[in-house]
Amino acid sequence: MALTADETRAIAAALVPETRLFIAGAFTDASDGGRFETINPATGAVLAAVAHATAADVDRAVAAARRVFDDGIWSRAAPEDRKQVLLRLAGLVRAHRNELAVLESLDSGKTITDCLHEIGNEVPNFFQWYAELADKAFGKVAPTGEANLALIVKEPAGVVGLVLPWNFPLLMAAWKLAPALAAGCSCIVKPAEQTPLSVLRLAELAREAGVPDGVLNVLPGLGETTGQAIGRHPDIDIVSFTGSTEVGGYFLRYAGESNLKVIGLEMGGKSPFIVLDDAVLDDGLIEHAAMSAFWNGGQNCSANMRQLVDAKLAAEYAERVTARARAFRVGDPLDPATDIGAMVTPEHHRRVMSYIARGSAEGARLLSGGTSFGPGSFIEPAVFAGLTPDMVIAREEIFGPVLGILPVNGMAEALRIARDTEYGLHASIFTRDIDRALWMARRLPCGTVSVNGFSEGDVKTPFGGYRRSGSLARDNGAEAMDQYLQTKTIWICTSKPVGA
Ligand code: NAP
Ligand code: MG
Repeated sequence: MALTADETRAIAAALVPETRLFIAGAFTDASDGGRFETINPATGAVLAAVAHATAADVDRAVAAARRVFDDGIWSRAAPEDRKQVLLRLAGLVRAHRNELAVLESLDSGKTITDCLHEIGNEVPNFFQWYAELADKAFGKVAPTGEANLALIVKEPAGVVGLVLPWNFPLLMAAWKLAPALAAGCSCIVKPAEQTPLSVLRLAELAREAGVPDGVLNVLPGLGETTGQAIGRHPDIDIVSFTGSTEVGGYFLRYAGESNLKVIGLEMGGKSPFIVLDDAVLDDGLIEHAAMSAFWNGGQNCSANMRQLVDAKLAAEYAERVTARARAFRVGDPLDPATDIGAMVTPEHHRRVMSYIARGSAEGARLLSGGTSFGPGSFIEPAVFAGLTPDMVIAREEIFGPVLGILPVNGMAEALRIARDTEYGLHASIFTRDIDRALWMARRLPCGTVSVNGFSEGDVKTPFGGYRRSGSLARDNGAEAMDQYLQTKTIWICTSKPVGA
């Protein structure tokens, strides 16, 4: 059920966020007492001073995680027991969705409507789906001669570090935590410094659901300290990271310079939205075009910001997308009537605004939006036309509400320009011809392609990037569980055959 603006404000006024680290089942201050501030991006006001995990705190959390992993209370528990705990957690998230959604909206500037959807539906669905998968990860028996029996079994991979971005704070936590916990791993979560609060509350709910102490630890902190200490820790087996391509590269270096831990990377993008000449410019297509770019204020890794539109349709397309963009209501994230909230920080806001200025300076035509207002960091969604493939706004990830229309001549040119990027996360294709759609889908170097719609898929379908958007690891789907499982062969030499 939706909340009214008065209800969200009443919930906000009553919130007392937890701000300490969560280690071994208890909230605790940082070892040096350090704290950092998280703001409310809608007002710029400090929301809370949060404990900043030091390298010593990372050590403490990893030791607790390793102890419980080796004890086997979670890692060797019957999978149906882990399943019951995770199902309870899904139920608790649903029961607390209003409080969690308001907390996250305050901390991130995301709209309350999006937070309610993500936290009320998607987050619990992730815990439920992987709970159900926990007791279905079968091993194999290899075909051997009669004198041997070879079992191929799956085991939890160990202690995992989960390093998160700020754009979907609780949802990204669920994407990684649900399969890692279902697999039996012990987890060290580092939320983004901009958005630590909802994940800390989740830790409390996990304890209430029955996740044993030490299995889930949450360490807010800054990337260079807490994040780096996780990346370099000698007793963490796997890091699953979502964030920028630059920082993803740091994690590969940390691993190389420490214990060669396995690194799973989900990173940036500059995804194309391709409209071929036979597409019908109906309301549905225009809605997908606008949402693919402006959903979550454009702060979305798979945002389709390069809109490659056949030149025959480009003028009408630009006019209709502009009209739709103007209809978005930008403002107070806690108001259910708001479509686009605040940029996550003043620095990020300045960065996005500098790309808008750059677009105009490069000769792209700003058709609407691109203005900013405060207090807080708000930007009216910007639509640019007349992009060329070499412009900076056509190449770099902006991570804000900046849609660019680039006219193309024919399918081959559309494919060539779509492929001309270092990224490879997502693409959308619009055409009435399924053969053309499949021809393009098979040639686009990216992890997800949607046809005649903008969709990232759902919990059942793997999500990740090619090229500099990701590693072979995938979030979501059964593939995500594989990230957190080791494969062991048990080779049994049996006794002589009976009767020989
Ligand atoms: P980010 O700056 O790379 O930060 C991601 C995480 O890494 C944060 O927890 C951050 O901590 C930490 N970090 C930063 N510097 C670090 C360092 N030197 N060593 C270790 N850890 C460090 O990314 P972001 O700005 O939060 O998120 C936006 C990016 O995420 C975009 O590029 C977007 O495309 C990408 N993203 C990708 C996906 C996907 O599934 N592919 C999904 C969502 C977002 P701090 O918070 O302290 O900086
Ligand atoms: Mg914040």
